[in-house]
Amino acid sequence: MFRIGFGYDAHRLVEGRPLILGGVGIPHTLGLLGHSDADVLTHAVMDALIGALGMGDIGRHFPDTDPAYKGADSLSMLRRVIEWVKRDGFGVNNVDATIVAEGPKLASYLPAMRKKLARVLDAPSNKINIKATTTEGMGFCGRQEGIAAYAMISLIGV
Ligand code: MG
Repeated sequence: MFRIGFGYDAHRLVEGRPLILGGVGIPHTLGLLGHSDADVLTHAVMDALIGALGMGDIGRHFPDTDPAYKGADSLSMLRRVIEWVKRDGFGVNNVDATIVAEGPKLASYLPAMRKKLARVLDAPSNKINIKATTTEGMGFCGRQEGIAAYAMISLIGV
């Protein structure tokens, strides 16, 4: 009773949108564009969980054509995925996630993201690791056209 999941997501940075990562609002001149709140970190974690359950991908369960998810709080979507994890007899063992963003500096917000995600994932916060990196100016993240996130998760039978 052990599963591993991997998730990836990216969203475009635009003016006039809030920047929300891991459920935490971060002051910035740009925010992420998307049908929901475009919380790219939470989406990567959701995709990893859905993958570990063998249930396809986030788009299958939360289609961006569905008005129910317009402007949706991604943490509430994550809560639904955790219900599926529990239904299948699993619990979150650990998460290791990386946000790829050239700016703003995220280090001071990582503890709050960790705490929020740990609460929803129903796991101790020392098992929820969230990192941030830049790409030293290279690629779409480096040019601040967008922010990407990667997440690895493991589930154990409970
Ligand atoms: Mg997304």
